[in-house]
Amino acid sequence: MMTTLMQEAFHQAGEAMVIADAGFKVLAANDAFAELARVEPAQVQGLCIRELLDESRLAMDFCEMLRGGDHVKAELMFRNRMGQSAPVLLSLSCIRDADGGRDHYLMVLSDLMALASSGRKVGREVYFDALTGLPNRELLGQLLNESIEHAKRRGAQLALCVLDVDHFKAINDSHGQEIGDQLITQLAHRISHLVQGDDILARIGGDEFALLLQQGADKETLTWLLNSISAPLFLKGATLRVTVSLGVALYPQDNVDGDVLLRHATQAMHRAKQQGRNNFHVFDSRFDRELQAREEQRRRFRQAITDNKLCLHYQPQVDMFDGRVIGLEALVRWQHPEKGLLLPGAFLPLIEGSSLDDLLGEWVLEAALRQLQAWGREGLELPVNVNISPTHLLSDDFVERLSLMLSRYPEVPVTRLKLEILESTALGDLPAALETMRRCQALGIDFAIDDFGTGYSSLTHMRQLPVDLIKIDQSFVRDMLDDPGDLAIVESVIFMANRFQRPMLAEGVETIEHARRLLALGCGQAQGYGIAKPMPSSDLPGWLTEWAGQHEWTALAMQVTPPSAEGPPRTRACRLTS
Ligand code: C2E
Ligand code: CA
Ligand code: CA
Repeated sequence: MMTTLMQEAFHQAGEAMVIADAGFKVLAANDAFAELARVEPAQVQGLCIRELLDESRLAMDFCEMLRGGDHVKAELMFRNRMGQSAPVLLSLSCIRDADGGRDHYLMVLSDLMALASSGRKVGREVYFDALTGLPNRELLGQLLNESIEHAKRRGAQLALCVLDVDHFKAINDSHGQEIGDQLITQLAHRISHLVQGDDILARIGGDEFALLLQQGADKETLTWLLNSISAPLFLKGATLRVTVSLGVALYPQDNVDGDVLLRHATQAMHRAKQQGRNNFHVFDSRFDRELQAREEQRRRFRQAITDNKLCLHYQPQVDMFDGRVIGLEALVRWQHPEKGLLLPGAFLPLIEGSSLDDLLGEWVLEAALRQLQAWGREGLELPVNVNISPTHLLSDDFVERLSLMLSRYPEVPVTRLKLEILESTALGDLPAALETMRRCQALGIDFAIDDFGTGYSSLTHMRQLPVDLIKIDQSFVRDMLDDPGDLAIVESVIFMANRFQRPMLAEGVETIEHARRLLALGCGQAQGYGIAKPMPSSDLPGWLTEWAGQHEWTALAMQVTPPSAEGPPRTRACRLTS
């Protein structure tokens, strides 16, 4: 009688129970176990129980654990015969024979997922979120890896979504934390009703959920999810309509492990936020690879700045009336360990608009000032033009940092440093650019406007910007001898600059013929390969000596007649004293 009652109790118990032999082979198991393991009750015998348990996360195996006594408890993952995993609480007791040896085990397995939905809180904090009862990040990680394994075997698709509540902080601040908590709970409730039985919803942060869709997801599903989520929520004391930003990573298109898949979905969520919230963004692995490559190149460039692997080359600027050298333009180069000396075109696009832009700008300014100081000591007193990027010029403390830097080079007259800014710079935020330029000019620093003619409001700039030199873009100058269109632009710019009484310099002067033509049109200064290519500072003294003997260039003015009696406005040329 007693035996029958005990058998009945064993079979009808709500918890999964197993009696196994010393080798953990199932001898008898109840219906709850058959249910948990997803096998027919008749087929439980002979199963190896340890094959269903993932012991990898335990510090020691069962046999070691049992050394301390006859009973152990552990939380671990249980994988059913369909390949799905769930966390369980295992109570393991050993049953001893008449001689005291261990010959059987009794195992009771409590399904922690079932505990979660029944709202009990036994041993759940490790895997479940206290507020919503949903699996937490930890459990999600495990379930995700299991699902990936499973999808791999079945050739199935998965969609991992990360959902972040839009403006949650503002809601919390204005309605209080209690409403905030209610909102999260109700939202969890709503989303869990939107998904299928084997989909997994987890809470992975304050206002962040992850949703693993076992059947994948298309655009329609995602749009439907967003719409369904944004219906009003009726909370105690408030009715709120909240939206979420949704990032999605798709497996196997994105063939990575669970951690990385979650990171990708999170990145996609941030993009969805950037793109205006209440929308979704699907992670694109090709785009991500490009992004990573760019990040790596940026990291290397940052390192190059720290390691002083950049250098400045200098290109002379001359006054065409008498061939005098009036200044130098500093042009940055990167001495790349594998690719050799790189020109700015190879690396500037990489850093444009990033914080590296300011870092490079400061490095260049400092290097130019150091060079000016060294040349000054040698009696070489040419001004140096430094190119300033739009981001750098418009950074908050540009003027303060520049004047601090100048104070570290007291031997260098401030007027010897000139800044070149692109015509397009000012387009972004004209008032801010003007303000910074005025403050620099108050320090004694002149400006040149670079690549003039390439912006779309050159005329406005010519009038408004407080610049001391207009540099006509080399793309017009280079072809002006053959291309009537380019010639017309060059002529117009020269005409305008003269009307506004602004000195001008032509870039891209590749031959003396260019110089003759420009001078005849009324442009007084030039820079270009016809005069000299950019060179390292050490080559400059030699070049200057050589240039002094270039009589063809120094006698240019005698060969041409300027267009007006006054001639073009001229800047004060610096004399070379060395
Ligand atoms: P940019 O300011 O217009 O500089 C002139 C560029 O034209 C230089 O190229 C120079 O080598 C080239 N060049 C000069 N004369 C001639 C010529 O007669 N024919 C031809 N075909 N090209 C000529 P580089 O050094 O490659 O610089 C390219 C651009 O990179 C510069 O254009 C400037 O916008 C930017 N850059 C250079 N150094 C710096 C820097 O230190 N900071 C920032 N922000 N930008 C820089
Ligand atoms: Ca320039
Ligand atoms: Ca230029």
